[in-house]
Amino acid sequence: MSPKILVVEAHPDDAEWYCGGTLAKLAREGAEITFVICTRGEKGSYDPLTDPDELERARVREQEAARQLLGVREIVYLGVPDGELQPTLELRKRLALLYRKYQPDILLTFDPWKRDELHPDHRACGVVALDARIAAKMPLYYARAENSNAWATPELWLFNTDAPNHFVDVTDFIETRVAALKLHASQSVGDVQNIAHVLATARADGEKIGVEYAEAFHRILIEGSIARAR
Ligand SMILES: [Zn+2]
Repeated sequence: MSPKILVVEAHPDDAEWYCGGTLAKLAREGAEITFVICTRGEKGSYDPLTDPDELERARVREQEAARQLLGVREIVYLGVPDGELQPTLELRKRLALLYRKYQPDILLTFDPWKRDELHPDHRACGVVALDARIAAKMPLYYARAENSNAWATPELWLFNTDAPNHFVDVTDFIETRVAALKLHASQSVGDVQNIAHVLATARADGEKIGVEYAEAFHRILIEGSIARAR
């Protein structure tokens, strides 16, 4: 059975930047992948003359192209203002109801405990995405909501981590990752310097498992009686 994967990210391009090779690989292997993008990404420019609404529209178009390239099934946009992502109870509920709806086998999100992560959206994203897992699996949370059937996600892969314990060989998918990054043309992610950084990081992670390129995660597997809601 093909695994269902939910990726909760702060901005369009986060998934491609941190783990695009892994996503391309999992999609090729048949995984059903859905992106949940928390913010509108409308502040992602260094040009003060940028129109935020236009930038948002451009980023949706770019993300759609990257979605197709990676083989991701669907994108859910939550529409939070860029730079203002907070681990609120409201956002926790929205995410928990999405977990109940999509019933993922694996949840990918930011490692909220990464030291020196300076982007508040990235930290908040990891916190709220993980907090929503508990709310989704306990049936008394949002018991009267439409998606009230509890769902416990059994496996978490945290990207942008400084405590990696899981490496995915992406040697055959590194070119797809770079191509996906370049599709985010409004961003600087496709610049030569940034691509060099992505490749150097993937090469260093590859060395740890004896392959050319890899991507690193902190993987949490929840097993036993607490793994699934009954
Ligand atoms: Zn980001």
